[in-house]
Amino acid sequence: TDSAIREKQNPLEFFERVLSVEMDAREERRIATSMKISGLPKGLYLENFDYMFQPSVEKHKVDFLATCDFIRQKENLLFFGPPGVGKTHLATGLAVKAVELGYSVIYYTVEELLSQLKRRSDTPISRQRRQAYSKNALVVLDELGYQAMDRQETHLFFQFVNLRYQKGSVIITSNRSVKDWATIFANDHMATTAILDRLFHRSHIFNIDGNSYRLKDFQLLQKGGVEKEN
Ligand code: ADP
Ligand code: MG
Repeated sequence: TDSAIREKQNPLEFFERVLSVEMDAREERRIATSMKISGLPKGLYLENFDYMFQPSVEKHKVDFLATCDFIRQKENLLFFGPPGVGKTHLATGLAVKAVELGYSVIYYTVEELLSQLKRRSDTPISRQRRQAYSKNALVVLDELGYQAMDRQETHLFFQFVNLRYQKGSVIITSNRSVKDWATIFANDHMATTAILDRLFHRSHIFNIDGNSYRLKDFQLLQKGGVEKEN
């Protein structure tokens, strides 16, 4: 009968279940290790992002990117907006998805990347391909524009962008709009154009123009008409 067949399958089902529990545990360890290696900030998940607070961010666009098809296509993501609007949160949340799907990910602030690049600046480009900023499937580069670069830094940054170009994805967050990027890159308009050209070719762009989430309680107080004390 039907149930007899099912009973005969029971031993196999049992092993299958044991195996899947073991696989889940291994998968969890793999993700934990990759998260540690990636240097991604902790506790920032797409699931915790409040889209109601930030209407300029389209959830369906983020959900689509969370499939990480952009990494397979070697496309870039660019997040623009003032401080506190969730650029790091979204960039990190998407990078966590990439880790979960098995992609190698590394996170740097621009400051950290520049110090890496300076340390390697004597190494030939061919050897630099072994470096984390080159070989990972996804590089998250946070906080472009907080600090202006000098000519040497601009050149190193251009080399980095070139190294990644059509070879692997980059997610960049910036508090400066593109028209101000020349001021980040030592007012070198040629280099700025070359950098923009490569980053924007095959990219998804978010312009976040809402309020700072960090200041949201302060803004609520203001809206509630609470007067300043002094
Ligand atoms: P940015 O990088 O744009 O300066 P962050 O991503 O660091 O901003 O966001 C600042 C803080 O506010 C973080 O703790 C982040 O988790 C939180 N945050 C920002 N936007 C949202 C949001 N829409 N929903 C939930 N938390 C948010
Ligand atoms: Mg940030």
